[in-house]
Amino acid sequence: MKKYLPALILFAVFETLAVFLWLAKGNLFYLFNFTYIGACLASGLTLFAYGNKSARRLVQLAVGSYMLIYLGLICRENMQIEGFWYYLFLGTFEAAFIHYAAAKIFGPLIFGRGFCGYACWTAMVLDFLPYKKPQAQRKNWGFIRYFTFIMAFALVCGLFIAQTIDIEKIMFWLFITGNFLYYAVGIWLAVRLKDNRAFCKYICPVTVFLKPLSYFSVLRVHCDEKMCVNCGKCLEVCPMDVEVNRETRKRKNGTECILCYNCVKVCPKNALS
Ligand code: SF4
Ligand code: SF4
Ligand code: SF4
Repeated sequence: MKKYLPALILFAVFETLAVFLWLAKGNLFYLFNFTYIGACLASGLTLFAYGNKSARRLVQLAVGSYMLIYLGLICRENMQIEGFWYYLFLGTFEAAFIHYAAAKIFGPLIFGRGFCGYACWTAMVLDFLPYKKPQAQRKNWGFIRYFTFIMAFALVCGLFIAQTIDIEKIMFWLFITGNFLYYAVGIWLAVRLKDNRAFCKYICPVTVFLKPLSYFSVLRVHCDEKMCVNCGKCLEVCPMDVEVNRETRKRKNGTECILCYNCVKVCPKNALS
């Protein structure tokens, strides 16, 4: 029973949100949406507790493809950062806005960059590439994310200022072209730098929200430095170059942790938890 408890708590949190939004907004979609995501995450947590090596990938595929295919392509909601600005400017409290608020703005205060490890549809594809452990020295290219962030914001502002007709339709096509660009650049960069997560480290505009907020995350990997023998195994397997063998929140690249727990699995001294 103890093994199932975290999964049950997680499911209960999502179900509470599902029922609350369903009743508050009078829309059955919210009940379905949050029940599905909660069930996926809880199932993944249970598989994880039983040592299933593919648990994270299964959750990532189930949630990521739901957001990309169902919410994005079928329901035609722009789930990318442009969609967030668009619905924010409209004052519409819809899927893309709720998604950003829950997964990328307020959520990271609790579960850090769990979205990046378990739900992102861009990383869902990038994680199929063979460079799971970065094979090159990390570049100093993090500044690019601020350009992509400003570009996305300026693009949506421009559409509103120009009073573009049929903006909803444009947002849908922006979602398709935006994703295509993300995949193309992400795959190219991953192959070039031999690092699956290069796009996440240097280009992704969402990290402008994710990084500072996840610094305060309640959920994080802890290191008992007294038990650590500095073998470096955790550093070798980390896809995000996190200096996880230090306990402080100021550890190098600490705000990049995607909670994949690869480091915890390889530590020979059980110093990480
Ligand atoms: S950094 Fe961006 S692309 Fe990478 S997993 Fe997170 S949200 Fe997705
Ligand atoms: S290997 Fe550890 S430190 Fe690195 S991203 Fe995964 S959980 Fe975080
Ligand atoms: S794998 Fe464990 S013992 Fe080795 S450096 Fe990391 S925390 Fe320390």
